Amino acid sequence: MQDRLLGWFDRHQRVLPWRARKGRRPDPYHVWLSEIMLQQTTVVTVGPYFEKFLKKWPSVQKLAAASQDEVLAAWAGLGYYARARNLHKCAQAVTNDYGGVFPDTEEGLLELPGIGPYTAAAIASIAFDVPATAVDGNVERVVSRFFSIEEPLPASKKTIREKAAQLAKGVSRPGDFTQAFMELGATVCTPRKPKCGLCPWKDDCAARRKGNAEELPRKLAKAAKPVRYGKVFWLSDGKGRFLIHKRAGQGLYGGMYQLPTTEWITDRKAAAKLPAPFQETIKPCPLGESVRHSLTHFDLVLEIWTAKAPRAGTVKGLEEACWIHSENIGDYGLPTLMRKAIGLCAGL
Ligand code: SF4
Repeated sequence: MQDRLLGWFDRHQRVLPWRARKGRRPDPYHVWLSEIMLQQTTVVTVGPYFEKFLKKWPSVQKLAAASQDEVLAAWAGLGYYARARNLHKCAQAVTNDYGGVFPDTEEGLLELPGIGPYTAAAIASIAFDVPATAVDGNVERVVSRFFSIEEPLPASKKTIREKAAQLAKGVSRPGDFTQAFMELGATVCTPRKPKCGLCPWKDDCAARRKGNAEELPRKLAKAAKPVRYGKVFWLSDGKGRFLIHKRAGQGLYGGMYQLPTTEWITDRKAAAKLPAPFQETIKPCPLGESVRHSLTHFDLVLEIWTAKAPRAGTVKGLEEACWIHSENIGDYGLPTLMRKAIGLCAGL
């Protein structure tokens, strides 16, 4: 089983920017950076971001020396911004506390900011070739099908983990096996229309025998996402510049730049009211457009309101705001939601 998968991987692995060339040891910095970027994000999306980060910060020490604003600006558009804040903290911890060298065990890696059990296992096995079971969505799918596990996710996670560890036990090349397992799920045992004819495990696969591969893994039906409402303000100075400010806190979009907004709440009626500080000082008007964005736990609808040359500095939270031109948005960490709003307003 292991030899068949490794043999298949040797012949068919994709060339990926973070993957070491044949016969070379992977760079732990590259493995770590790619694993953080690939959480909840596709290989296609991550590719250009990975290249950009490596060009800007070729070593973990260089990344540690950057400011958080620079890192957030480079990360803008990749989403899940807590990852970027933790990435920066982790680079600083590796540089300052570990002499710039990543720990080579799961336990050691788990001590670092932003590294959970999956990421620790993936880095330990891929970068340091130590036995560790990293179960991502691809591995979950392959194992569910191979053993024809009917119990739906997430309840089946423990069984899947145990079965994955069983398949990896005693493997001669732990790092390659981890990558091969994921690669099989990503390229052959795909969510729809798995290419079972090309699979190195086809002769032993229970789901293939039963003919129900595409139905697995089963998942519990998800509850409908709630919708939150609010307003976003396009405040221009009449000279082609508009106002942005840094969002406070460590929560959603914390540390990123944004157009001023109201709170995002589920009560649509309450969200329709214009809060007093904006009403009194900025006196904005509705544009008649809304920006919609889907986040992991809720969908968001923000009405766009505009005003010219407002006294924004008198609104609490906007004292530190800055005026920028549209062509400079790349210099600021603006999430996709805000870029969408700017796209609707630029040129007003
Ligand atoms: S035989 Fe088909 S269903 Fe089974 S592991 Fe391979 S690709 Fe997946």
